[in-house]
Amino acid sequence: MLKKKKGLILVVSAPSGAGKTTLCKRLLQASSSFISSVSFTTRRRRKNEIEGVDYYFVSQKEFGKMAEEGKFVEWAKVHGHLYGTSAKLLDERVREEKDVLLEVDVKGGSQIKKNYPPAVLIFLLPPSWQELEKRLGSRRTENEEKLADRMKQAKKEIEYAPHYDYLIINDDINRALQDLLAVIRAERCRMDRVADEDLEALRGPEN
Ligand code: 5GP
Repeated sequence: MLKKKKGLILVVSAPSGAGKTTLCKRLLQASSSFISSVSFTTRRRRKNEIEGVDYYFVSQKEFGKMAEEGKFVEWAKVHGHLYGTSAKLLDERVREEKDVLLEVDVKGGSQIKKNYPPAVLIFLLPPSWQELEKRLGSRRTENEEKLADRMKQAKKEIEYAPHYDYLIINDDINRALQDLLAVIRAERCRMDRVADEDLEALRGPEN
C-alpha cells in the first residue's frame, strides 16, 4: 500500500489587504494536516496575539544576534519591523514530514524557495488594484499616510509575483480556498513527493 508522502512546505505571500491571513486561517480549519510555522518578530505583540502561537516576540538585539548567527532561513524588514523564519524550527518540521504553512512577505518567499526548492509558493492577489485600495481603505487601523505607504509597498510586492509557482485571485474567499486546496491536492500527487522507499516498493520483488 502506497501511503507515505513527503510533507509540503506551502508559502503564502500577498500584499496587505489581499486576504492572506483569512485564507491561511481557512486552510488550517479545512486541512488538519497543516501546521503553521511560527516566525520571530521585533514587532510588538497585539492584544489578541499569543507568544509562541502567533509569533515569538523578541527585541531588536535578540533578533540581530540570531540573524548574525545564521539562525534564520530568511528574514526581512516589513513595514518597519523585522520578521524571520527559524531554520531550526523549519528543519524539524521537514524532518517530521509535516505539512507546513508559512505566511511570509514576498522577499521571504523567494529565500525559502532557494533553501528548500520543493517549497510551493502561492501568491495571493485581490481581483483588481481598485479592490485592493478599497480593502485597505476600509481597515480602521490605517490612517491616510499608512494607507499610501501600504499601496506603494503593494506595488513593489506585486513585482515578485512571477517568481511564485501559483497565483490565486481572492475575489471570493471560498473560491480562493478551493483553488488553494486544488493546488495542494495536485502537489501531493507529484512524483517527486513520493518517498523513495515507496517508489522502491512499487517496483515489486526482484526476479
Ligand atoms: P503582521 O505584523 O501583520 O503579522 O505581518 C506583517 C507582514 O510580515 C506580513 O506580510 C507577514 O506575512 C510578514 N511575515 C510574517 N512572518 C514573517 C517571516 O518570518 N518572514 C518574512 N519575510 N515575513 C514575515
